[in-house]
Amino acid sequence: MTKRTLSFLIISSLIILFSSIQTSIGQDRGEKLYEETFDLYKNLSVNHNKIQNKEIWEIIARAFYSIDRDYPNSPKAPNSLFLSGKMYEEMGERFNSQKDFDKSVEISRKFVRKYPYSNLADDAQLRVARIVEKESKSDAYIEYDKLVTDFPKGDMRTVALNKRQELAPFKPAKKAPVYKPRAKGQASTSRNGLTKVSQIRHWSTDDYTRVVIHLDKDSTYTSRLLKPDPQYGTPPRLFVDIEGATVDKNLYVEPIKKGLLEQIKFARNTKDTVRVVLYIESFDDYKVFALKDPYRIVMDIEGSGKKSGGYYATGINTDRYDYKSGLPEDRVSSLSEALGLKIRTVVIDAGHGGHDPGAIGPSGLKEKEVNLRIAKALKKKLDTEGKQFGITKVYLTRSTDKFIPLEERTGIAKKLGADLFISIHCNAARNRQAYGIETYILSLTNDQRSLAVAARENATTSISRSDMANVLKQYLLGAKIEESQRFAVHVQSSVVKNVSTKYPPTRNKGVKKAPFIVLIGADIPSILVETSFITNPRDEKRLKSNAYINEIADGIFVGVKRYSSEMQTASIQ
Ligand SMILES: [Zn+2]
Repeated sequence: MTKRTLSFLIISSLIILFSSIQTSIGQDRGEKLYEETFDLYKNLSVNHNKIQNKEIWEIIARAFYSIDRDYPNSPKAPNSLFLSGKMYEEMGERFNSQKDFDKSVEISRKFVRKYPYSNLADDAQLRVARIVEKESKSDAYIEYDKLVTDFPKGDMRTVALNKRQELAPFKPAKKAPVYKPRAKGQASTSRNGLTKVSQIRHWSTDDYTRVVIHLDKDSTYTSRLLKPDPQYGTPPRLFVDIEGATVDKNLYVEPIKKGLLEQIKFARNTKDTVRVVLYIESFDDYKVFALKDPYRIVMDIEGSGKKSGGYYATGINTDRYDYKSGLPEDRVSSLSEALGLKIRTVVIDAGHGGHDPGAIGPSGLKEKEVNLRIAKALKKKLDTEGKQFGITKVYLTRSTDKFIPLEERTGIAKKLGADLFISIHCNAARNRQAYGIETYILSLTNDQRSLAVAARENATTSISRSDMANVLKQYLLGAKIEESQRFAVHVQSSVVKNVSTKYPPTRNKGVKKAPFIVLIGADIPSILVETSFITNPRDEKRLKSNAYINEIADGIFVGVKRYSSEMQTASIQ
């Protein structure tokens, strides 16, 4: 049997499985899927041919991951996530792939966060330590130490104790604080020199909540999850302790109307620590990170009830596999729905606004104005023509000249139930001759040009490169990198085509990756388009005309159309 036929068989059986399960009633879908996927996994370890085929490994590992994600209430959800992490470690070894080791660490960390009381949590933590040890003994010390401290009764304790002792010479000098307070006098000071908690804002959907705590200056914080207490009927609680802080007298938190959050409470915990506690009805995963200028702490909670789809779908590469045979039409259409492939809601983000003008052209044209004009033109096109390919709702993050912090834009998109997120910008360069079009997706990079673009677009807020790396590590797993990449390719090529036909010459600078704060946490295909260089006098002149704006908006529109159509027919091509 050839590799291709084998992958096809496995994928077909998974597809038929996923779709037939959609129609069965009174049966735990997650459990059934788990059993079937586990059989494939078992089969993999005894069949020598299949073992050599990495694609099959990946498909099964992703299937396990998606069971936990899509059927979070299934009794088999924890096992599925655990096995996904295990498979990536095996792939790392079998195929000598650091990328798979990294993925295993991400998934295993997620397991520890999500199922801290599972009897597999210490095994997951041990896996993290074991993989990290290959790269850094000092980092591994911290992981083994966590294993000893957090799982004192686990059966891995002896192993962990021995390893911790063995790695003692590599013990890091001091646990790095998350953030150091700023030097005195640099920031505005509240009374007694304490940091003031000035604002707490939140955005919620049924399965997602982002809470942003605003502080008037930098502070050190710690965060932790508290387990539910059935005796008192308390749900899980996620808290952050902000050191050297006090609460603004006028602090008001909008009541919570929907979503995963029950309530947000805040209080002085000790004399100069403020504790903000989120009471969570249910959750799958959480993340906490900080941004600067102004300083704020962002808490993201993801939960159950999420529409099925997403991660599993990334395993389907329409270029390589043939889906034609044997799948009846109705089943396919319900599958594309089941996998969350339908694009209905698009959120368009006009970059910058209000006191943040963005880049400024040689004659004074402001990027924020151009971005808004392109965004509005794109919305208009999608409003009138989008229905033909399934897009029924189109929103703008801003429709006026208003400042919106970067992390709020993602919050808005999530709240609106976006399936696609497009952030629109203009490029800038010191060299006024620079011109061309480029489209970005979220990722880390070493490319200096891309980093400079991200730094400029992130300018209203700041985050150090190492902090960004840590934040991104938490998010990349859910970031829909492959879909974003495909989406970006469509948009980039159609914008370039439009512009180069009517406004030659132009330069196709391609699809690139960089760490943009505005894209963090949007677990939908998300792109940032650098439509033209506003700093180029010729392009600045063009950006003033409506014809050029429409040409760019039309190019993005065609990209959205192609991507949406491709996703809808992904399983029948
Ligand atoms: Zn910009």
